[in-house]
Amino acid sequence: MDCEKCGHNSDSGREKFGSPLCTVCFHLAPEEKDSFSEYVGEKVDGSLLGTFRKHFNPGEKQKKGMIKKAIRGVTMSRAPFGYKIEKGELVPAENSREIEEIFEEFLDNKVSLRKIAEKHKLSVNGLKKILRNFTYIGKIKFNNEIYEGNHQEIISSTLFNHVQNQLEARKIK
Ligand SMILES: [Zn+2]
Repeated sequence: MDCEKCGHNSDSGREKFGSPLCTVCFHLAPEEKDSFSEYVGEKVDGSLLGTFRKHFNPGEKQKKGMIKKAIRGVTMSRAPFGYKIEKGELVPAENSREIEEIFEEFLDNKVSLRKIAEKHKLSVNGLKKILRNFTYIGKIKFNNEIYEGNHQEIISSTLFNHVQNQLEARKIK
């Protein structure tokens, strides 16, 4: 059976509200039917869950910490701009100061997204991703949930929140 969320072909035999799920997606699934439908509707690339899957041992009781660790494994496969991976840890890179500059430049309404992107050798889409990336405040977003990360933040939550409000106000998708 193919998992309805990630498409992974699994013989876990698990299902919830009639939807077949792989072990990983089963463990992350919400208990409530409404949130469950939403959860299943948000498709996840099965290959992204690959690292995750390796950490899973269906014979064992799953602990929250273990799940978080697995999530960390997934999200750390590539370091976001401003970070680098050192001994498996996400650490601020030499250019980490540039992230703060980008966030501050964005708050200056006179500067267009294109200008900021050009200055930092990014695409406009890449820039938008940076502006929304929770990694910079030490958190990790996975499956639409925000988790506390184990890495160092490189900008303040205040700056990040200001930018989120601006993105909203300027209707930037
Ligand atoms: Zn799945």
